[in-house]
Order: sequence, then C-alpha cells, then structure tokens
Amino acid sequence: MIKFNKRYKKFSQPFLFEELYRLERAQRKLGKDVISMAVGDPDIPTNPSIVEFAKRELDNSINHKYPNTKGNENLRKEISAWHKRRHNVDFDFEKEISILIGSKEGIAHLPLFLIEKGDYAIIPSPTYPTYRTGVWLSDGLIYDIPLLEENDFLPDFYKIPQKVVDKTKVLFLNYPNNPTGASADLNFWKDLVRWALKNDILIAQDCAYCEIYFDAPTHSIFEINGAKKIAVEFYSSSKTYCMAGWRAGWIVGNSKVVCALNQVKENIDSGQFNAIQNSVAFALKNHELITPPVRQKFKERAQYYYENLKKLSWRPYMPKGSCFIWAKPPIKTKSERAARFILENSSILLAPGIGFGKYGEGYLRFSLTVEDRLIEESINRLKYLDWSKI
Ligand SMILES: *Cc1c(COP(=O)(O)O)cnc(C)c1O
Repeated sequence: MIKFNKRYKKFSQPFLFEELYRLERAQRKLGKDVISMAVGDPDIPTNPSIVEFAKRELDNSINHKYPNTKGNENLRKEISAWHKRRHNVDFDFEKEISILIGSKEGIAHLPLFLIEKGDYAIIPSPTYPTYRTGVWLSDGLIYDIPLLEENDFLPDFYKIPQKVVDKTKVLFLNYPNNPTGASADLNFWKDLVRWALKNDILIAQDCAYCEIYFDAPTHSIFEINGAKKIAVEFYSSSKTYCMAGWRAGWIVGNSKVVCALNQVKENIDSGQFNAIQNSVAFALKNHELITPPVRQKFKERAQYYYENLKKLSWRPYMPKGSCFIWAKPPIKTKSERAARFILENSSILLAPGIGFGKYGEGYLRFSLTVEDRLIEESINRLKYLDWSKI
C-alpha cells in the first residue's frame, strides 16, 4: 500500500464546505434552483476588448514558445507604469516585479524559501486559506492573529507575544479583506511598516481586491518610506479585470524576495502563456476604462445587500471593498448550522464563517458574484426564512 507523509494530513482534513456541497447536490436533485453565493468567482465576463486582443495574440506564433518564469518584459514594464500612475511608486521591472500564474500560486510558494522548520508565519483569522499552504509545505508554524469587528477587522500586531514575533518570518495580510470587506488606511500601513522593520518580518499584502474599493482609492504599502525593505504585494487580474480563469497575477516589492520567489518557481513552472500575459498588459493599459464599471457594480450590490440584510434583522458589516458581505444572522448560532439551515430552507449556498478560521465563527459570507437578478431573488428568499424553525 502506498503510504503518504504526515504533511499530507494537513491538506486532507475534511473540508468544511464538502458537507454543504453534498447538501447542495441533494437540493438540486429535488429540483430546487440553488443560488450559489459561496465562492468569489466574478459573474461579469472579461471585458470584450481584452478578449478580442487575446484572440489576435493567440494567432501570433511567437507566443507559442515557452514563456520565461519571471514574465515577459512587455507586461512587467506595463505593471511598472501602472504602479507609477496609480500609487506614484517606482518599481524596477527587472528586479522588483515577477509574473505569477494567478496570485494564489505565488502566495503558496512564498514561504518555501523563508521558513525553516519551526518558524512562524502570522496569518489572520478569519483568512483566505491559501496563506497556510506554503507554511504547511515548509513545516512552519502558524500564529493566528484575530480580526475583530470592534477593531474594524484590523489586526493588533502589538499583541503578538514577543517570543512568537522573534521566530516569525512572514505576516500575511489582505486589504480590502476577504472575507470581511474591511480596508486599511495609510496610518495602519505606516505603523505596520515600522513594526516590521523593527522585527525583521516580511509583510506579504494580498491586493486581490485593491481595485474593488467603494470609497476613496486604496493605498499601497509602498507609499510608506522604507516599505521596500520588508514588504511585497500580490496583485491579481482575477477580480479587477474579471479574468479569474485566465490565471495571471504578479508580485511587486523587495527585490531579494521577488528574485528568490522567481528562482524557486524556475524549478517548478515555466511561467504563464505569453498571449495571456500580453492580454493582461492590455488590460492594465486600459485600466481606467475597464475597472470603474466593475467597481461600480460591486459597490451597488454591496449597498443593496447591506441595506436589505439590515432590514431583515441581520448584522452585516458594510464592506469598504471586495465582493463580499460578512454578516451575522438574526439569531446567534454556529455558522455551519446557519449555512445548512439557509441552504435547506431558502436554497442559498453561503460560506460559513468558521471555514475561514475560528474568529470567523458566528458569521456567514455572501459572495456578490452572481447576476443582479439572483442577488434580488436571494434577498426575497431570506425574507421568508423563519428563524424560529432552526
Ligand atoms: C480571489 C482571491 C485571490 C486571487 O487569486 P488568483 O490566483 O489571482 O485568482 C487572492 N487572494 C484572495 C484573498 C482572493 O479572494
């Protein structure tokens, strides 16, 4: 019999959503049309101008060869120009930018060259689960830092015990945040940079939703002096340009870290298809035309959902960005129980908060990545949900 190693156990723990997916299939078998609001996969198609551009790129046989792992020069230069326009920050396209096969890929590989067995990674709770992947693969330890509603879902890094801080190599963060919808301001980044410089800890900020903001534009950590010494940011075309299936993202920041990640990846993959990379460069070039309608759509949905959930006695957090609503149901109950109750009685599939870590307990996450018609329909269904029956 083939025996797997201990590490594999961490990846094979029963996945919380599995039971819910089983229930979803059972509902569909009964002929119920389930509204699936559990995953954040934009319903909005990629802008047609990007698709048209990509078709022409597909015909160009130069693109049929191996790409290079770091990414093609055209895209890295376009990224550099975009950061200059957007945040007034200069990045050297040779040393401070590297292309990823989706940001998830880079996030998962980052700890492989940072963590020795027994070192810590600090990861928020609730969290996007991929921050754990590379830590597990490196036999590192995870310190959960709570994101609490009373602190606007920002971590209090001064509360981390010094003996953990001393053994920490990397802190993962994600603002605007999945799953809470919270955002971070410039003062937060300033404090964090000071703390990270003092403690020699790499900040890995996940910018997946940095362009899906609802009030003032989000700030980059690199607007703070000294940040390049201790930080990297991960960007993704998945939400910003509704290109989730295209698999493209990038890392910017500390050149030593960017180059090391590239070095590791050269031993793993051979980069993303050049036709896709050039299409992302096209999207970046036209960013100011392509993104506002996407941002506006998610903002309208978030406001509609927030207001209607409140009318139904839910306790939602008004997101400052992202495509999620993080909310407590009208009665206090375990999130998994609430998700099951809603699925069975209203045929809406939601993500239970506990699936994002123990500090997610009590919450449910609505993903606003379904058509407007279904957004409204889901609110109608929740109106008729009788919580006394749970
Ligand atoms: C969707 C998402 C990503 C994007 O991953 P890609 O691999 O770029 O598609 C990264 N981080 C968070 C928190 C996300 O929700």
